[in-house]
Amino acid sequence: MRAMQTESRKVSRRRFLKETALAVSGASAFAHLRRGLLRGAGNEFGVVVLLGPPGAGKSEQSRRLTERHSIPVISTGDLLRDHVRRGTPLGLQADSYMKAGQLVPDSLMNPILEDRLSQPECERGFILDGYPRTLAQAESLDALLKRRGLPPHIFLIEVPTERLLKLLTGRRLCPRCNRTYNIYFQPPKKENLCDADGTPLVQRPDDKEEVIRQRLETYQKETQPVIEYYAGQGRLVHVNGDQPPDKVAAEIESKLTPP
Ligand code: ADP
Repeated sequence: MRAMQTESRKVSRRRFLKETALAVSGASAFAHLRRGLLRGAGNEFGVVVLLGPPGAGKSEQSRRLTERHSIPVISTGDLLRDHVRRGTPLGLQADSYMKAGQLVPDSLMNPILEDRLSQPECERGFILDGYPRTLAQAESLDALLKRRGLPPHIFLIEVPTERLLKLLTGRRLCPRCNRTYNIYFQPPKKENLCDADGTPLVQRPDDKEEVIRQRLETYQKETQPVIEYYAGQGRLVHVNGDQPPDKVAAEIESKLTPP
């Protein structure tokens, strides 16, 4: 079965290459080819789920994955922050939970996520950053992915607890392009300015020490069972997050590529 699928992928890939060669030329051929291989003929990745404690670098790794594989990142934290910024009814309710370092209830979280995942660009796959965070969320994600026939790759980015505090208190981000930095481990070239677009960097309001402690506690209590759930089913892939982001990215990549 697997051999047949691989063979039919090879055939459609060959056909795609032939059609591409006839249709376009030069640099645009290359761009067209790459897009096609990642989307239609050869997107073997489907859904990527990144788990890990706050500060483990999930959003940095999502950004790198989306650049490499052209599948969208769905960050539930970003989706919620966007609702808060726009002052929507959902955002107004979510805000108090986020400020306290607690999880937003599923009755608010799940409709926002489902709406986002129903958009056409998510059809062939996506990267999930920050979801699932509870057992109930893991189960509803399983049901959703089963309906859509998209098996997930589940990664756990592991970082020793003593390092997390520094990672979180030192975290800065660009409000324009969402690139993340760390004043201790990965500072921008010019102090407090984004390398990519020169925008002044900001600190997230929930990156204050007392809120950080609460977020780490919430992670232990609510998300640890999710990790045990996936591990128990043999679906969890461990990644060492205690190394430079390039190395973390390389490790994810090597474990993502099909054999
Ligand atoms: P981090 O992983 O560093 O804590 P996120 O940006 O992922 O940061 O999340 C920020 C906040 O958004 C969380 O503390 C929580 O209040 C809320 N949140 C994000 N994802 C979820 C989720 N899947 N379920 C409930 N609340 C969430």
